[in-house]
Amino acid sequence: MQNLVLPPDLDKSLRPKTFDQYIGQKKVLDRMKVYVQAALNRLESLDHVLLFGPPGLGKTTLANVISREMNVTLHTTSGPVIEKPGDLAALLTQLNDGDVLFIDEIHRLSPSIEEILYPAMEDFQLDLMVGEGPGARSMRLDLNKFCLIGATTKPGMLTAPLRDRFGIQARLEFYDYNELALILEQSAKKLNLFLSQEAFLVIAQRARGTPRIALRLLKRIRDFIEVGGLINPTSAQMSSCLQELEIDDHGLDHFDRTLLKCILERYDGGPVGLDALATAVGEGRETLEDVIEPYLVQENFLQRTPRGRKLTPKAIEHLHSYYNQ
Ligand code: ADP
Repeated sequence: MQNLVLPPDLDKSLRPKTFDQYIGQKKVLDRMKVYVQAALNRLESLDHVLLFGPPGLGKTTLANVISREMNVTLHTTSGPVIEKPGDLAALLTQLNDGDVLFIDEIHRLSPSIEEILYPAMEDFQLDLMVGEGPGARSMRLDLNKFCLIGATTKPGMLTAPLRDRFGIQARLEFYDYNELALILEQSAKKLNLFLSQEAFLVIAQRARGTPRIALRLLKRIRDFIEVGGLINPTSAQMSSCLQELEIDDHGLDHFDRTLLKCILERYDGGPVGLDALATAVGEGRETLEDVIEPYLVQENFLQRTPRGRKLTPKAIEHLHSYYNQ
């Protein structure tokens, strides 16, 4: 067997680096450009930013872009990683003036860590307990003026005091087909892959409004193209590649259809509670709620009702036509 080489870090190289390279999310971007310019003009750090929306829409990417546009260093961590007050203290004390601290999944910070974060965000001060028992004493440290960017798929799970401390809050939306096609075109160029506009649109239409999924499909299609020797594949060839990947015309994958089929066949179309559904399809409740459902709801395949999840007529029609073709 030949020596294998590690693939280059494609995800990193495909990430847009500036506001100009960041496609879509126009409203968010327009506002963010103003806030960044204003902070730069005043030689201040940027106010704390909360970014929310389903996974894969570009929250981490936007945090990277903001720190680059602000000309500061980005330090990245995530909510569940910060377990002890000392972990947070170590992060905060290494920040220079203006630096960005990016906390992904910020809704998973524990309450004791949140308590330390409040004065750090508001007054740039860190209150720490040193020692234990009767000899314990509190210590106050001054921090440099940093910018916290928090990202979450579940803004509702943030406590009100934490949410209120973010001066800038932005919700990222699903992308439309043309925006996704543009993202694909930009990334394909970096991969030395040249496809027609129609080909990009075929992929975009099946990417659930999500750049991460669009790029994943592009990488898999690149495999089919390279191995199958498809030069300039037609839309029909692209569709058949996507069929190989079990992605249907609406961008639903095998798991989406299994979920919808389960509601139809086992629960007569619903309503069914989230926990029962998660057990029935063998997936975590969180994954269903955060990753799978948002697109199914947005595309009107699934309704979230007070009594549970329910299929829409569109979903029933889609399942019939898919499995009876
Ligand atoms: P999130 O943090 O919201 O889960 P990411 O920022 O990790 O999402 O984005 C997922 C992928 O999609 C990244 O590889 C990134 O390159 C790409 N991407 C996201 N948003 C955009 C965009 N607006 N323009 C171009 N590429 C994007």
